[in-house]
Amino acid sequence: MPAALEMLRGMVGINSFTANRDGVNALGRFTAECFAPLGFAAEFVPSVNPNYGDHLVLTRRGRTARSIALVSHLDTVFPPEEEARNNFHWLPEGNRIYGPGTHDIKGGTIMMWLVLSALRAEAPAAFEEITWKLFWNSSEETLSLDFGDVCRARFDQGTLAALVFESEGRLGEERLMVAARKGRGTWRVTVTGRGAHAGSKHRHGANALVQLAQTIPRIAALTDYSRDLTFNVATVAGGTVLNRVPHEAVAEGEFRAFTPEACAAAKTALLALAGPGEVRSIADRFACNVAVEILTESRPWPRNAATDRLAGLWREAGAELGFPVGGEARGGLSDGNLIWDAVPTLDGLGPWGDNDHCSERSADGVKVPEYVEVTSFVPKAALNMAALLRMIHG
Ligand SMILES: [Zn+2]
Repeated sequence: MPAALEMLRGMVGINSFTANRDGVNALGRFTAECFAPLGFAAEFVPSVNPNYGDHLVLTRRGRTARSIALVSHLDTVFPPEEEARNNFHWLPEGNRIYGPGTHDIKGGTIMMWLVLSALRAEAPAAFEEITWKLFWNSSEETLSLDFGDVCRARFDQGTLAALVFESEGRLGEERLMVAARKGRGTWRVTVTGRGAHAGSKHRHGANALVQLAQTIPRIAALTDYSRDLTFNVATVAGGTVLNRVPHEAVAEGEFRAFTPEACAAAKTALLALAGPGEVRSIADRFACNVAVEILTESRPWPRNAATDRLAGLWREAGAELGFPVGGEARGGLSDGNLIWDAVPTLDGLGPWGDNDHCSERSADGVKVPEYVEVTSFVPKAALNMAALLRMIHG
């Protein structure tokens, strides 16, 4: 642990905000150095988006072609200015270490190192048998789809599993692995009306804002909790100055669901809102027009048998070690969404902590920034190791 924490301190000290290309690349090089003593060779794969740093792939050839993929990411959501403004840096305090990425996901990267180090020391035959392929997305926080291709191109027939080191869930004492994640679509609704002088030609106008105000509740009503389908109307904008009838208004948002079917139905229902609206000009019945665009689509990672089999190994390993392990479906996306249908995938193998994506701290304790719990590393590493040995020997 002392060596692991020293490594984590080094990683947290390198700002790797997604848009900080140099920082992400520096962290990639440092990460490659950390794993080199374990026998890993580095490959840096440029991102499709030239503004982002390189994805990192580390490989250690084993005695057999049977391989296991471990997945993490390099980037965080914190710009350097925000870290400085909120004095958000490496800060051990009791059993917690605060700092950018301590939990999401540099702590997960350290977990990978702990597990591999422990396997090499305690189960050298198993460690040497497997070809280990480690993947770091340079830009997971912006859902860079090209990382999925980087992984899939390096998976093969012998790849037993892809294990993602995002944070674990907890339900009381039970540790929860992630066995499914929602898919997400983002959208923009643009209402085009007709501008008019608000004083002299009010009747000529078709008010785009009024139309959007009628369309928004229809979007919100597409949420269906019974199907785990949510719509979020996230931003609205429209109008210019007070003496004009607004000619345009725009809303943007997203939807999420666990199954491809629910995602497809959500998209169809949203697109069906397009067309002429009911807000019209009094003068000539000119109608506002509602246009719907799907901006991005990320596939869901639905419950599936291959993932459930992996989750079973972790549950058995937990029983062996004496603590309860379960599975959960999570609303947030991860790189698991990009690879689950290529090889059996399980997520949530990282350490325990909380407040991901938060950098603020208030004196009254209402705002607490991201932290990782130090004592969560060793038991979780033991769990991951025991489950991996079951996979390798099974
Ligand atoms: Zn993450």
